[in-house]
Amino acid sequence: ATKQKMSLTKKVLIGMGIGILTGFLIRSLLADVAFVQDYIVNGLFYVGGKIFIATLKMLVVPLIFISLVCGTSSLKDMSTLGRLGGKTLAFYMATTAIAITLAIFMANIFEPGVGVDLAQATTYAAKDAPSLGDVIINMFPTNPINAMAAGNTLQIIVFAILFGIAISASGSAGERIAAIFFDLNKVIMKLVVMLMKIAPYGVFFLMAKLFSEIGLDAIWNLINYFLVITAALVIHAVVTYSAFFKAFTGLSPVIFFKKMETAISFAFSTSSSNATIPATLETTTKRLGVNNKVASFTVPLGATINMDGTAIMQGVATVFIAQAFNIDLTISDYIAVILTATLASIGTAGVPGVGIIMLAMVLNQVGLPVEGIAMLLGVDRLVDMIRTAVNITGDSVVTCIVAKSEGEMDIDVFKDPNAGNKEE
Ligand code: ASP
Repeated sequence: ATKQKMSLTKKVLIGMGIGILTGFLIRSLLADVAFVQDYIVNGLFYVGGKIFIATLKMLVVPLIFISLVCGTSSLKDMSTLGRLGGKTLAFYMATTAIAITLAIFMANIFEPGVGVDLAQATTYAAKDAPSLGDVIINMFPTNPINAMAAGNTLQIIVFAILFGIAISASGSAGERIAAIFFDLNKVIMKLVVMLMKIAPYGVFFLMAKLFSEIGLDAIWNLINYFLVITAALVIHAVVTYSAFFKAFTGLSPVIFFKKMETAISFAFSTSSSNATIPATLETTTKRLGVNNKVASFTVPLGATINMDGTAIMQGVATVFIAQAFNIDLTISDYIAVILTATLASIGTAGVPGVGIIMLAMVLNQVGLPVEGIAMLLGVDRLVDMIRTAVNITGDSVVTCIVAKSEGEMDIDVFKDPNAGNKEE
């Protein structure tokens, strides 16, 4: 009989599962064995996991720049770009506002913070929110090389768009440069596919290390908080996204979720939307059939500013802290929370653990004690994994919606269960 090759998705899921299991086993049976801790957990798992994350991050800057230059240089005219940007931003904001409203609603029904003991809360320093003007100014790089060196996604996006526009306006010189970028794009996407092959091992290392070390006791103290957030995240992902997907693309959300598995496992195990960009881009273009013209813009933008999962955490956390401190929030407080959490999630960088830091901004806005955050840190590592998976799922839903509405989605690819699994 011919042996069928296992798909990457399956391998990644298996790597993740075995990793979590291994971590738990080490934690419960081998926690005191020096050899295991020194050579396996802090040796093999640590080094392997770090290298996996490094290879992903390594791809991000060249990938965003090259694919977006290709995408922009092939746009027919300026108005397409404006329309694309407008639609994308509108959907990103709308889904985030729904996410946080759902979070506040659920936190008020289940009241996870009522009766919580605040004895352990310590001081926590808050940062002030940057002004909107500064945020906009900071999108424009003074030095594109610096922007790339610093990995500043928004600045890279702005430069790539302008560069792409100039290419399309430069006649035959532009055509020659565009041809080079299209070749570069093929090469860098090839590198993405090559490096994704190590993902099953990478996620195994990351999960095994994390779960052999993570303090799960903190979860028991905050179990209600954890459950309400997780429930809100799952409902948003399954209900809101399926409804949006179905309503605006007319396509099957089941197929969508099935194809998202690899990217979701990447987000879950790296806790970073940014490090997941290569996987999200590969999934949306090769598996879901979105034209690179759309995905090269919406995916990195979404990884930077669209964080529904983070907004949900911030919504539940705010209500939780208010309940724990016995502070009543008024309707206008809630509106302020929705607005600031939407902004805070936009300002949250797509890297691990930033969402909880940005929470301080939301708490400040409604005058809640920022010290409450200290109490939530214990479970935030786990919450981060789940919310990051939701963050990139939201990016991909909007990517499909915008692409479909622009006629830039290949339905045959979307419907082909093997798309993206074949070697070209
Ligand atoms: N880790 C999240 C992300 O990369 C951001 C956050 O901390 O909420 O999407």
